Amino acid sequence: MTIADLALKPVEYEQPADAGGGACSTRHAWARVPAEPAPAERAALKDRIRTLLREKNAVMVSHYYVHPDLQDLAEETGGLVSDSLEMARFGRDHAAQTLVVSGVRFMGETAKILSPEKTVLMPDPDATCSLDLGCPADAFSAFCDQHPDRTVVVYANTSAAVKARADWLVTSSCALEIVAALKAAGHKILWAPDRHLGGYIQQQTGADMLFWNGACIVHDEFKAQELLDLKRRHPGAKVLVHPESPADVVALADAVGSTSAILKAARELDASEFIVATDNGMLHKLRTLNPGKTFHEAPTAGNSATCKSCAHCPWMAMNGLADVARVLETGANAVEVDPALIPRARQPIDRMLAFTAALKSGQPAGALVPHLGAA
Ligand code: SF4
Repeated sequence: MTIADLALKPVEYEQPADAGGGACSTRHAWARVPAEPAPAERAALKDRIRTLLREKNAVMVSHYYVHPDLQDLAEETGGLVSDSLEMARFGRDHAAQTLVVSGVRFMGETAKILSPEKTVLMPDPDATCSLDLGCPADAFSAFCDQHPDRTVVVYANTSAAVKARADWLVTSSCALEIVAALKAAGHKILWAPDRHLGGYIQQQTGADMLFWNGACIVHDEFKAQELLDLKRRHPGAKVLVHPESPADVVALADAVGSTSAILKAARELDASEFIVATDNGMLHKLRTLNPGKTFHEAPTAGNSATCKSCAHCPWMAMNGLADVARVLETGANAVEVDPALIPRARQPIDRMLAFTAALKSGQPAGALVPHLGAA
């Protein structure tokens, strides 16, 4: 079955507020992006956050796509800036009793599922993700029920209820290895929600995969034709692409991978100039870690673009310094996950963390994948 066979309703991200769009729509998310504080206010907010983190026994966990201030402050205060896989692991293992997760809702929920005894705060709880919005638990569960012979593999960018329906969780940094191991163990896969990442994994592994029809509104906007034009203007540049991008963009890449893999490629590839197809929040880290190199944003605009995203996630952009200070001070925006869901939602996350830990330490991770019928 192909994506086209699935009669799935597209998600409407541009609903007017009076139609119930609220902070979920991209338009309303953009409207809630905090204004840049003036230099003195910015310095004062950072000082206040440093003090509050100490006083509240709290640690910051920030994604690569959030504002550079939230990335720098996390690192400077002993927290973490990373992809969603390492954010989950760090939050689980850190001794702090309060985690301040700057990112989008599913990241806060994952932290809470892994550490229900901890307080998980988010600068703005309405910061969501098109992949999460596009995969409602009821419809997804019905889809799974129609295909009981398939092992359910879901991307981290999903709600707790969708995770609770899954056998395995993956992020873009471990999806290839986990799907390859499942294929080797004889599994047929039901994949959700990102169709581009799913297509890339299928092409790389040859696994039998059935797709949910979701997409990331940021990566979905990268354009192959305009990327080719940019490559012609920068013939020495290497192209780094996140696999949530369309297949024709991925086909032009010198390196394809997660945010962590993109950082590694920028460090290791023999080039001084790069074109980067992922959220432009990533450029802060790329430029900081590679001061002698030049990074260009891959194009989203052009004749074939709708430019809903302009290479930056509106929900990631909702995270700001003032809200970090406010939630630390007041305890507002604590993430809650239905306690009844937690044990089941935790299973696929634990499997992923065990698998990736085994991979990292050189253990036979494939042994953690049950043979067909036992998943
Ligand atoms: S960049 Fe895409 S995948 Fe990431 S949170 Fe935003 S919409 Fe979701």
